[in-house]
Amino acid sequence: MKTIREPSRDVPVMAETDVLVVGSGPGGLAAALAAAREGVDTMLVERYGCFGGNITQAQVETISWYRHEKTVEAGGIGVEFEKRAKEMGGSRKNRESDGEYLNTELFKCVADKLTEEACIVPLLHCLAVDTVMQGDTVKGLIVESKSGRQAILAKRVIDASGDADIAHHAGAPYRKASGDELMSATVSFGCGGVDVKRFLEYVELNPARLADWAGATSGQQDDLFTPYLDEPIKKAKQEGLIPQNIRVEVIWHSLTENGDATHINAVRIRGIDPTNVWDLTRGEIEGRKQAMSVLKALKKYAPGFENAVLRTFGSSLGVRASRKIIGEYNITEHDVRNQACFEDSIGIFPEFLDAYNIVIIPTSGRYFQVPYGITVPQKVENLLVSGRCVAGDRISHAATRQMMCCAVTGQGAGVAAAISVKHNVTCREVNIKAVQKALEKQGVRIA
Ligand SMILES: Cc1cc2nc3c(=O)[nH]c(=O)nc-3n(C[C@H](O)[C@H](O)[C@H](O)COP(=O)(O)OP(=O)(O)OC[C@H]3O[C@@H](n4cnc5c(N)ncnc54)[C@H](O)[C@@H]3O)c2cc1C
Repeated sequence: MKTIREPSRDVPVMAETDVLVVGSGPGGLAAALAAAREGVDTMLVERYGCFGGNITQAQVETISWYRHEKTVEAGGIGVEFEKRAKEMGGSRKNRESDGEYLNTELFKCVADKLTEEACIVPLLHCLAVDTVMQGDTVKGLIVESKSGRQAILAKRVIDASGDADIAHHAGAPYRKASGDELMSATVSFGCGGVDVKRFLEYVELNPARLADWAGATSGQQDDLFTPYLDEPIKKAKQEGLIPQNIRVEVIWHSLTENGDATHINAVRIRGIDPTNVWDLTRGEIEGRKQAMSVLKALKKYAPGFENAVLRTFGSSLGVRASRKIIGEYNITEHDVRNQACFEDSIGIFPEFLDAYNIVIIPTSGRYFQVPYGITVPQKVENLLVSGRCVAGDRISHAATRQMMCCAVTGQGAGVAAAISVKHNVTCREVNIKAVQKALEKQGVRIA
């Protein structure tokens, strides 16, 4: 590859903090809140103009669609996201379960309020592009923004970028999803002008079951209702309105009294490497094109959508899988499907898997413990990782990528980072019993 050499230069230090969190999806927001609530100075850096990650950027409103009568919840900050959104008028009852749909626009304000209350220093429109290292220890980050190239020094860094950007820059080992592990990317969209009553009458006459949509399920859950819409897409493909070779899976979510379908999750673009800017560009443009043909198909073949108009696209391509660190521990399919227990548990997560043609809904009260080791990268000190880039195998990702699980790893990493600062030990050496005690105090269920 052709290269040029940049001249070296001095970089101004714009801030110093105890804990610096990069990325503000459920994994990062939870990490920053947990660290700040342990009483250390905390800064949250986000490349876009709002906090929330996939929730606010890709309209992912279904934070708790898995929840059924017997589901055992993790508690902690993930559940708090939902509760605070509800209190602020930013959620509505989920049609398929005991969960809530988030109002993903209002969630921007929920996240602002939570960070403000916790006295977190917020920094938006700021991309982390490199690490400041002393040997194997992370000492801070290089960031770029409209203010130029600057440094932020930190005693501990938490990588919640979804892409393990910081682990990558720091030289920590990771693997990158590829082939059929690289899940499809989605341009989400929302529309107005839907005749909700007419559409729901159609759905009642043509209900979809989990088995119709999900591929492999546990068997006992095959008959659960799911907001999956197949017939209109089949017809549109037969007619050539949507090319045969394009994969489309329409999942409709929240419908408002005003005729808005706020999140249509339908587009599935394969082969997008989220760390490749050319792929990201292709994904956005191709995704919008496909979303428009889905809308055309809905208008023609989904009763109630005849007068639907496009209102919103997710402000960024929605990504499901990317880099994953190699951790002190790498969680496995066996762990997440067999109620694994760990000495270094930082929380629990119900047995909810959704990816790679496996959907298991936690209807029976089963859950596994989430180990601290999956947030600790090998070889690099004072860096933790939370959210969907934690360590684990392909199928475990079907559980750890879920937003509530991202909040569990976020809260665990945030508390561990704070306690390691207070005890003046590295993140790897932190006293796990002290972390667990603090997490329980924060409302997390550990066992
Ligand atoms: C269409 C779609 C539907 C989904 N449906 C569901 C669902 O129903 N239920 C569910 O639980 N999960 C669902 N998921 C998965 C879920 O949204 C993600 O796995 C989850 O949001 C991951 O959280 P995270 O905090 O790890 O990362 P993200 O939510 O991706 O957040 C990462 C954040 O880091 C920021 N960032 C990245 N790099 C940098 C950098 N270098 N510097 C600064 N900031 C940076 C990003 O802008 C972003 O805000 C869905 C995903 C998609 C795409």
